[in-house]
Amino acid sequence: MSNALMSNYGERTLAFERGEGAYLYSTDGRRFLDFASGIAVTALGHCHPHLVAALQAQTETLWHTSNLFRIPGQERLAERLAANSFADRVFFCNSGVEAFEGAVKLARKYQDDRGQPGRWRIITCEGAFHGRSLAAIAASGNEKYLKGFSPVAPGFSTVAFNNLNELRAAVTDETAAIMIEPIQGEGGINPAQLDYLERLREVCDEFGLLLIFDEIQCGIGRTGKLFAHEWCSARPDIMLLAKGLGGGFPVGAILATEAVSNSFTPGSHGTTFGGNPLAMAVGNAVLDVLLADGFLDQVVANGKALKDGLAAMAQRHPAVIAEVRGAGLMLGLKLVVPNLDFIARLRGDGMLAVPASDNVVRLLPPLIIGEAEVQEALDKLERCCVGLAEAA
Ligand SMILES: *Cc1c(COP(=O)(O)O)cnc(C)c1O
Repeated sequence: MSNALMSNYGERTLAFERGEGAYLYSTDGRRFLDFASGIAVTALGHCHPHLVAALQAQTETLWHTSNLFRIPGQERLAERLAANSFADRVFFCNSGVEAFEGAVKLARKYQDDRGQPGRWRIITCEGAFHGRSLAAIAASGNEKYLKGFSPVAPGFSTVAFNNLNELRAAVTDETAAIMIEPIQGEGGINPAQLDYLERLREVCDEFGLLLIFDEIQCGIGRTGKLFAHEWCSARPDIMLLAKGLGGGFPVGAILATEAVSNSFTPGSHGTTFGGNPLAMAVGNAVLDVLLADGFLDQVVANGKALKDGLAAMAQRHPAVIAEVRGAGLMLGLKLVVPNLDFIARLRGDGMLAVPASDNVVRLLPPLIIGEAEVQEALDKLERCCVGLAEAA
């Protein structure tokens, strides 16, 4: 590995030279079934022809003009996201954590505009992950991300996940908003109970708080709905997107209702790169595929086949898998054996998965997989369980 790179990522040994659909090809000539998807980013697999064509056409036309000018691709993508969600307005940025930062600013500004400048704190959940900026690590309340970076940015209170009583008790006259991932990703594929999300909406309405859903990982079709919260009746005031939205091209977005978005007035927020023509061309192409008739139904069907297969596997191998959780194609295996051992063995057999907190292995395949890839994954995971059970 190059000595010129900072060592924040630890040891990395694999490098890839090519990707196609659900497969990656390493520089040393091996083929991998990719159930990592660059951490839920390459939502349509590698080099999807429709995305390649959209990006190629855009690279030959116009790359960047800045937000001093209208960007037609932005207007189109914003209209389509609004038409397919609770939201009325969209702000584009480049990454998840920028969407998080912008949403924190928007929530504070909204309360300030309503004559409530004292309402500036945000309630978040244990196990949350909202990115790596100083505010985002404070929002996680997680020592793993915070250690060595004191002082901790103020303005966040963390409560137990899925615990309504604790959350209600944490609301004060300084609270501006509640922010939650409908399914925690980095935290270990922990789904919020649907009625808990619905109760959060009621709490927000009761106390005049904003409800913010971080769908950076669980959104963009991952659960079989365009947005994960669509499985329940609760609608947020603000939603964060990134990861899958660009299918591998960096992009992030803040979606909000009209009443809330009005608090961003000229000058209150901005970005140089955010929403540039390249990112917008790819984002629009991603939506073309996701919104095509029947696409999300396939995600639901393949997710169910995968989850059913995993549940049976957990029954056969209780010394390896403790629990299967998640929705659609955002599934987690809570393990008995160390998750990193499991992932290393799986990799040796030509399959990629992602570790998460709580000793979980995340399965985040591209949403374009079919029955064949589901079966191949189940076969490889079964061999991995057998191998680990024998080794134990
Ligand atoms: C990945 C992630 C982020 C941060 O996104 P970056 O693009 O890495 O800044 C925030 N929230 C959730 C839920 C994520 O999964």
